[in-house]
Amino acid sequence: MSKKRVFVSRKILESGINLLKRHFEVRVYPKDRVISRKELINGVKWCDGLLCLLTDKIDKEILDANPNLKVVANYAVGFNNIDIKYAKEKGIIVTNTPGVLTDAVIEHTFGLMLAISKRIVESDTFTRKGKYHGWEPLLLLGTQLKGKTLGIIGLGRIGSGVAEIAHKGMGMDVLYHDINRDKGFEKKNKAKFLPINSLLKQSDFITLHVPLLPSTKHLIGAKQLSMMKKTAYLVNTSRGQVIDEEALVKVLQKGGIRGAALDVFENEPKLARGLAKLKNVVLTPHIASATIEARSAMSVLAAKNIVNVLKGKKPLTPVKGR
Ligand code: NAD
Repeated sequence: MSKKRVFVSRKILESGINLLKRHFEVRVYPKDRVISRKELINGVKWCDGLLCLLTDKIDKEILDANPNLKVVANYAVGFNNIDIKYAKEKGIIVTNTPGVLTDAVIEHTFGLMLAISKRIVESDTFTRKGKYHGWEPLLLLGTQLKGKTLGIIGLGRIGSGVAEIAHKGMGMDVLYHDINRDKGFEKKNKAKFLPINSLLKQSDFITLHVPLLPSTKHLIGAKQLSMMKKTAYLVNTSRGQVIDEEALVKVLQKGGIRGAALDVFENEPKLARGLAKLKNVVLTPHIASATIEARSAMSVLAAKNIVNVLKGKKPLTPVKGR
């Protein structure tokens, strides 16, 4: 019997690719760029299993390209790039990579929070430009985290990890909003559940950890931004479309909030007009999960999901759909 085939839409860390190669014929898209639609369709036509990225739009046309396609393994925890409903209708299993990148994203969230509040990027530029002429009592004053109130929107794997460190490690008071309330967590971490508007009004830092869904698109728009304290910071490592980025730029331009730190953008890789010119932002190019440890574990988990499905077993982390 000929070997089953797996197509990988872009080069990822070898750990998972090597695992796939032990079982299947594997092709990895060779160019270091987002695969074109035509090339993706050709790849799908060739394979039984697809390992794809969040930059690949897996819609009806792609899912219809090959009746033998059994599994789509997304190399991400978010799966807003995939038509889950249609895949389900067709009996194609979709998987994601939850859990293994949680710590990396939690750490990046704190990295962003500290970078914006301690003005680290601004200070780095200042120093490199030769503007540092000696210690000054009022130079580049920032805001400390200890004693501040952190508002977490989305208390899932990542949000709850952020909450725990914020409370136990940083001495912050934690507020959260989620569609589900977790009273056990509240007790353990002295966290307080609030409706979103109250959280927006009371927090010094707000961090977003919801998935991108129709209900979370533009969850933070002009109205919500206007409720935030003038001294507050907004951090986003979830998905860009959760924030109305144009509205955010306007608010930042007029000092409506003190700053924002973003890893994800509404129309990435494009940035909203004016965003890159602002001093009170820190921007990273969707790298919250980009540690060797997390990306390697994601590679293995995506591969294991494909191995299981193509060997007739249950995948480890199927996307159930909502
Ligand atoms: P999760 O499913 O464990 O947590 C999501 C939480 O959001 C859940 O508790 C859920 O109840 C809550 N939620 C859903 N809809 C909501 C709503 N309308 N209002 C309030 N809360 C709502 O997911 P996770 O592993 O914590 O990841 C969260 C998101 O982070 C992912 O969906 C993904 O988009 C994003 N992410 C980004 C990166 C990155 O590289 N920047 C990496 C990993 C994950």
